[in-house]
Amino acid sequence: MQFLRKIDTFNKNSRKFITYFSFGNRNHKNIFKPLHISNLLVMDKDNNLMQEKFVIDKEDVNELLRSFMKKYVVFAPVEKKHGVSFQKIDDEKNLCLSYTSTTTPPKKVLYPYKEKLFSFDLSKSEFFESKDNKKTIIFGIHPCDVNAILQLDEFFSNSMEDVYYTARRENLIIFAINCNHAGENCFCSSLGTGPFLEKGYDLLLTDIGEKYLLEVGSDKGKDLIQGNEFREATDDEIEKKREVEEKALREFKKFVDFDSLKNILEEKYTDEIWEEVAEEGTDNSFPCLSCASCSLVCPTCYCYEVFDYIDISLEKGSRFRELDSCQLLEYAEVAGGNFRQGRKERLRHWMMCKFGFAAAGESSKCVGCGRCIEACPAGIDITEVARRLGERNG
Ligand code: SF4
Ligand code: SF4
Ligand code: SF4
Repeated sequence: MQFLRKIDTFNKNSRKFITYFSFGNRNHKNIFKPLHISNLLVMDKDNNLMQEKFVIDKEDVNELLRSFMKKYVVFAPVEKKHGVSFQKIDDEKNLCLSYTSTTTPPKKVLYPYKEKLFSFDLSKSEFFESKDNKKTIIFGIHPCDVNAILQLDEFFSNSMEDVYYTARRENLIIFAINCNHAGENCFCSSLGTGPFLEKGYDLLLTDIGEKYLLEVGSDKGKDLIQGNEFREATDDEIEKKREVEEKALREFKKFVDFDSLKNILEEKYTDEIWEEVAEEGTDNSFPCLSCASCSLVCPTCYCYEVFDYIDISLEKGSRFRELDSCQLLEYAEVAGGNFRQGRKERLRHWMMCKFGFAAAGESSKCVGCGRCIEACPAGIDITEVARRLGERNG
């Protein structure tokens, strides 16, 4: 069960009383543990949301980034041959903020595709746990990907805390940027996860023409930019943000209504559409190849497999985890057989999870980034499947 807790603190830097509201759960000793570390609402003593808005010259962003790199590990979008992706950067000249979507999501900063969890050597009585607690910034992350991280937060800290994830999350600062342009396959506007961000950031940039509007979303963000002299934004500059958002909203070409599927999916479980999309192909797509590319690029997919590598002496060993996918045949392999052998069943399960109605429920919903559409070699489009399911209902 989750609780809402009000925490009053005095911030020595700003010399103000601050009230945090935080969702959390209680462990067996009934100790409150905040779940959403940087997603706190920062209020002043009159319970007004503290949201400071500044403007920053575009050329000053590089300077800011350079100052961050002295103290933090910084991941930012960088242009590579295959497209833009989040990389650890040590030269601000490599920054590429004008991207629409990255090939893989920035979730890898918190949740690497493959990681060693621990290793041991009994002969030396050694045990090493790979908890990463370096202070890290994700710079230039888009609204859909921030919303995906909020879902991962919920999954990795809900009933059981994943200590490897939360160690990184506690040390992470989210410096996001709103999207002025929608990509061909983006549909976040239909899901309320973009193109502009409302929560989940520590700092947020919006391109308002010649300058960026810089908004502070948490105390962590405020501390990060302390010492910089930014001019407060004027009403006109704040209004400009609204205009930019309206313009961005007009660029979307894909729309979905996953909510209307809620009541019909159970009866659509045996619909012929799953056989058609997965096994036969449609007018617009080939049959599913079970390659799992859709799930590997999805910012909200969290399933993983665990492997132990033990030395033949049985004295030494390591445990790794690696991203897994319900689209792969081995995923449902259990003692006694495989409970999801058919491609149709696997594709259906994947889509149901993304619609938010699989066993994983709310914590693995789609955020409309469009990466699975971009990455699918068979041309399968989740928005198209949702549209056809909705139509057949009518
Ligand atoms: S299901 Fe597709 S569009 Fe939705 S979040 Fe995952 S990759 Fe993005
Ligand atoms: S069960 Fe859900 S979260 Fe896990 S791989 Fe499948 S779609 Fe992704
Ligand atoms: S990327 Fe396309 S072909 Fe590959 S598993 Fe996903 S839906 Fe099937």
